[in-house]
Amino acid sequence: MTEIDSSRRIRLLRDDVARKIAAGEVIDRPHAVVRELLDNALDAGAQNIQVHLESGGIKRIRMVDDGFGMDQEDLDLCWLPHATSKIETEDDLLSASTLGFRGEALASIATVSRLEIVSSQGPPAEASRLVVHGGQKLALEPWRGGRGTTVDVAELFYSLPARRKFLKSASAESAMCRLVLTDRALAFPKVEFRYFTDGNLKFFLPPTLEPGSDVGQRAFGNSVRQRLIHALPEVVHADFLHAIGGSGDGFSCSIVLETPDTFRNDRKYVQTFVNGRRIWEYSFVQAIEYAFEGYLPGGRYPVAFLFLTVDPRNVDFNIHPAKREARFRNLPEIHHRIVEIVRSFLLASARRSLTVGLPDRPQTLPDLAITRDRTPGSIPPAPAIRAEFPRASGAAELRERPDVVFDMNRKFSPGSPSRIRYLGQSMGLFLVAEVDSRLLMVDQHAAHERMLFDRFRMRAGVQNLLVPYAVEVEAEQSAQLRNRTDDLRSEGILIEPLSDVDIAEKLSTWQITAVPSSLSGALDTLAGGLTEISLGSGELTHDLYARMACRSALMDGDQVDPVTAVMLIENSLSLENPRCPHGRPIWHELSREALFALVGRTV
Ligand code: ADP
Ligand code: MG
Repeated sequence: MTEIDSSRRIRLLRDDVARKIAAGEVIDRPHAVVRELLDNALDAGAQNIQVHLESGGIKRIRMVDDGFGMDQEDLDLCWLPHATSKIETEDDLLSASTLGFRGEALASIATVSRLEIVSSQGPPAEASRLVVHGGQKLALEPWRGGRGTTVDVAELFYSLPARRKFLKSASAESAMCRLVLTDRALAFPKVEFRYFTDGNLKFFLPPTLEPGSDVGQRAFGNSVRQRLIHALPEVVHADFLHAIGGSGDGFSCSIVLETPDTFRNDRKYVQTFVNGRRIWEYSFVQAIEYAFEGYLPGGRYPVAFLFLTVDPRNVDFNIHPAKREARFRNLPEIHHRIVEIVRSFLLASARRSLTVGLPDRPQTLPDLAITRDRTPGSIPPAPAIRAEFPRASGAAELRERPDVVFDMNRKFSPGSPSRIRYLGQSMGLFLVAEVDSRLLMVDQHAAHERMLFDRFRMRAGVQNLLVPYAVEVEAEQSAQLRNRTDDLRSEGILIEPLSDVDIAEKLSTWQITAVPSSLSGALDTLAGGLTEISLGSGELTHDLYARMACRSALMDGDQVDPVTAVMLIENSLSLENPRCPHGRPIWHELSREALFALVGRTV
């Protein structure tokens, strides 16, 4: 046997170096600290959680919770490696229902930052304070404070300069932290969250209300639905958002999803959660997409949030440092059930939209006649549809409005009524109809787009935002915005500068404080519009409404039921200038004469 000599290349690292490296794996950037501290607060049963960041968490992260707290003895142990109150034996690992269980988060944080924790289990117990810097305990002493825990993590990676270099800008780190917060907030909709950056409240999520008689799975789904409306107003459309659920052997699930009336071009909002954690499990995403097949055109993705509750014995989270992946015992079964639940929901909602107004003859419309009291040649006023504009907000609502019933037995009025005979959809895009003696081909996307656009424009009223929406803009745009604030105000958009230009980043922050009420669900688009659209001239809102209408309108290839089709045709005919918001014509017609001439006949 040879002796280990100093010329050997392989050496064992010193304990403290090894610990720092290991810590850097668990805690790689501020958002990992936020994730771990949120998990601890939620595991402690907190109902109210505040997250404070300074400089995107690089300078300081402070988490305040009202959970069950720790006594001085616990506090003395909590920061040591493998200190946990959540499991005791290897067997417990199989049944742990808490978010944490490895006892390594606080230890890692304590190694790479200046950590201070004040905690109390509530009166009559006293609070205590623990201070650990770079893995060295500096103090453990009685302190003031009520029930709950405040964890303060300052100067992250001060002891690990190599890691510090990999941090991004404060705003980028802060954005990542916010995503982590949103993930947890969706899974815990009854908990109240506040998110502050550099002393400003940026994000407030009130606890969702317990719906009276609702229990269990359904109540959870409804809570999540409410939370989504608060947490992602720029993503979800409340009108189309539904909560559904079901269960199987050893698991149950809630799915909060939008009907195929809306969709996205990316998979960003097909999200899956298991036992309170956001998980990247492709097979669940695939199950949801598979269920939507045939309901959405190719390349389009639904908005759907899946929350699975799985018996801890059937799932292993201990395979990824951030617990973002898990191993399931009964994956095919869960997959199958998800498809089943989503499919039956889609089928039911499609049926509902087809049969409204057509109780007797849901499938065929051989001769749907719509009468209009008008003089020949004038533009039909379409009063019924006009009156509905302020309430209709898209295809689903249109289809589901119980008052949209066409009176098929109505006799033609004297005079010359406009008579629409809907023939069907062609090439996945054109709604074809015979109107009087003309063959009409209506572009379904353009027609719907125009209808939504008019509705957005008609909805008057300015709405003050509960929490102002911050927008970062470049110096040049900032100057343009300054010149346009009055114009914007006249369009119902109130915007004010929050900061001067940051010399280093050449950015300045503005905040939107009020918007026209029809834009309140599209702040993201609005903010994008403020920074992208050339602010030279013209109405900013025209462009925004056009974009929103385009995004929500029926697309090429979408199936359209006959009732909706006729309504779109009617509406298109009633327009004085039948063009989409981008200026393209909505329909094209062939007269009887022209058609006959094409085949060499005389009329
Ligand atoms: P784990 O969460 O895996 O147990 P941590 O290192 O995150 O490991 O925390 C160690 C222990 O400290 C926890 O098991 C818990 O007992 C205690 N603890 C940490 N944060 C809190 C908190 N906010 N409220 C109450 N107890 C806490
Ligand atoms: Mg933990």
